Amino acid sequence: MSEQFSKLGLSQSVINAVADAGYSDPTDIQQKAIPHILEKRDIVGIAQTGTGKTASFVLPMLTLLEKGRARARMPRTLILEPTRELAAQVHENFEKYGKNHKLTVALLIGGVSFEEQNKKLDRGADVLIATPGRLLDHFERGRLLMTGVDIFVIDEADRMLDMGFVPDIERVSALLPKRRQTLLFSATMPDEIAKLTNKFLTNPERVEVARQNSTAETITQKAVKVGTKPFEKRAALRAEIHAAADLNNAIVFCNRKRDIATLTRSLERHGFNAGALHGDMDQKSRMATLDGFKKGEIKILVASDVAARGLDIPEVSHVYNFDVPTHAEDYVHRIGRTGRAGRSGVAVSLVTKADEKYLTAIEKLIEKTIPIEEADKTASAEAKSNKPKSEKPVEDKPKRGRGKKQQVPDNAEKNQTSHSTESQKSSKNNRKKRSGNENQDRVPFGQSDQVPAFLLRPVRRAS
Ligand code: AMP
Repeated sequence: MSEQFSKLGLSQSVINAVADAGYSDPTDIQQKAIPHILEKRDIVGIAQTGTGKTASFVLPMLTLLEKGRARARMPRTLILEPTRELAAQVHENFEKYGKNHKLTVALLIGGVSFEEQNKKLDRGADVLIATPGRLLDHFERGRLLMTGVDIFVIDEADRMLDMGFVPDIERVSALLPKRRQTLLFSATMPDEIAKLTNKFLTNPERVEVARQNSTAETITQKAVKVGTKPFEKRAALRAEIHAAADLNNAIVFCNRKRDIATLTRSLERHGFNAGALHGDMDQKSRMATLDGFKKGEIKILVASDVAARGLDIPEVSHVYNFDVPTHAEDYVHRIGRTGRAGRSGVAVSLVTKADEKYLTAIEKLIEKTIPIEEADKTASAEAKSNKPKSEKPVEDKPKRGRGKKQQVPDNAEKNQTSHSTESQKSSKNNRKKRSGNENQDRVPFGQSDQVPAFLLRPVRRAS
């Protein structure tokens, strides 16, 4: 076991679990954050995913939780996560590093039944990992009291901001005791997050690991010029995948959800082992896909930005941007899925004429030039010859009848809440505004399978 881990002040049970996880040395963020957290200081941690950020708060929390016991419906610690996947991932971390502890960890996320979550709350949770909507929902149903929370973690704060969760965070903070330890982690530090920090944290220690908005040096980045037609882009993508050396597995990012389904089907039809991941899928299928990808049963994951942040998928060798992200920051997060922990990775972006301005914004943000190539000639030829025959059945118009499922916004857990204060309304509006790309693919009016209620009423016949 590394001496370094034992020097950080962690308890022996935690050190043993870390040794079993096979880690030899703490990462940069772990070295910097853990001692302060153990001293009960507030922390602002600027760290991207892939840096070992999760363990940097989970390990000291486990150590601190060894003293004391949970009381029914009064969690001792609370971790807020922007998405269900991230919450589930933090839960996995608690299971892995907390295997020598007998702690009750409750995961409160939308899309799954309340029953199991209620049982855990009733038993008394040492750790509550939650998305804001479901947490407030439980609170309003009187299932929990947050006055016993000793440590409050706001993870992926910039992502929370993007998803319009700031009013919810403010609301949750008001329900917590004033005297508590607060840890805030964010990949970037926009002004709004800096303000939150001033408001909710007391004399925080700032720990920072990579430069904000930087991309790892280990990632080879390139852009490929493509035509605007979807079938041209699909052919270019296939050509890139075929030409890739050492492709172990890949994530292909799309800006619109309807393209994910189309592209996944198209890849499968061309013999690739592909799976889809986006926010409209139910929780069970999302988890199943993610699991399949982690185990290597799915080689190519076609995903929306929901999958871009935080998901702990080790050793992704290639990232493809089927669409250039319109927010430059999303590019950093997307390609951050590869080249992790010093490994090499490849990121390829398909760029149409209209996308060039986004690429310029990305280059400005990451302070790097991304070399741009013309699309492979053979790919264009393949696209032209294939189009009428093989591509037709998967053309890009959403099929009738798919509309209903696609209407659920990505952060669906929020929609299950019943509270409707002003801040909630503005939060909803923010979210509508900010969910941008994910909502662009709403099915046009009249093309979904939603039938107005009055048409479903039985017809009364005159006797
Ligand atoms: P995170 O930034 O929390 O998403 O973690 C990224 C990956 O690093 C996860 O697969 C962790 O299991 C792994 N990890 C965390 N701490 C260490 C460490 N000290 N040494 C090696 N890998 C680690």
